[in-house]
Amino acid sequence: MSELNNLLSSINLSDNPDTWKWNLDNSGLFTTKSLSSILDNLKLETHTPTFKTPRNKLIPQKINIFIWRVILGRIPTRVELDKRNIDLDTILCPLCNSHVESMEHILFQCTVTEATWNSILAWWNLPTNTFSNLHDTTLTDQTFTTSTLGKYIWQATKWTTIYMIWKNRNAKVFSKKDWCPATILSEIQAQTFSWFSKRSKKSSLEWHQWLINPSFYTSLNIQRMGIG
Ligand SMILES: [Zn+2]
Repeated sequence: MSELNNLLSSINLSDNPDTWKWNLDNSGLFTTKSLSSILDNLKLETHTPTFKTPRNKLIPQKINIFIWRVILGRIPTRVELDKRNIDLDTILCPLCNSHVESMEHILFQCTVTEATWNSILAWWNLPTNTFSNLHDTTLTDQTFTTSTLGKYIWQATKWTTIYMIWKNRNAKVFSKKDWCPATILSEIQAQTFSWFSKRSKKSSLEWHQWLINPSFYTSLNIQRMGIG
């Protein structure tokens, strides 16, 4: 009873209604931005000192989160599952069946995946040696354009491609769906167009132009597209 009295001694009850308070921010209000900033400080900086949580406004948050997991190496490939003693029939890549399935392999180095990357580069009219590894494609701002919008669009296209490769890999592994490069390319083209159009205030993306020459949009300025 004495302990209880001690605990309650500093508490003043009022007639105001109860409210929630977010103790991790001085304002007392919860925002995803404040949580993201706390996580950046606590976690990301210990892994990648110069890297902030990926955020590209042209694509949904689920893609940004997926890319964050890729950067941290938290993708449940067969090699990673095997490291955690999960019993698997094989640790070989489900697409080529000739290399172990590491994250770098399935997303970038597999000959099957490489064909998808090459089809993206061909669509963008870029040489096939534009980038070659995980670091080039996700961690750096490596790009072929100096325009801000161009960087956004190209980054969002790369990240969507990485996401779609993993999504289709899962469909093959878990639903026995055939891997079809032409369908995957079409899916990436349609999805990026849909996402970019919705997030561009002026909806100035034109489907035919996007399909034939997406690089056209990388030379436009950001105000014209209404993104920023
Ligand atoms: Zn493979």
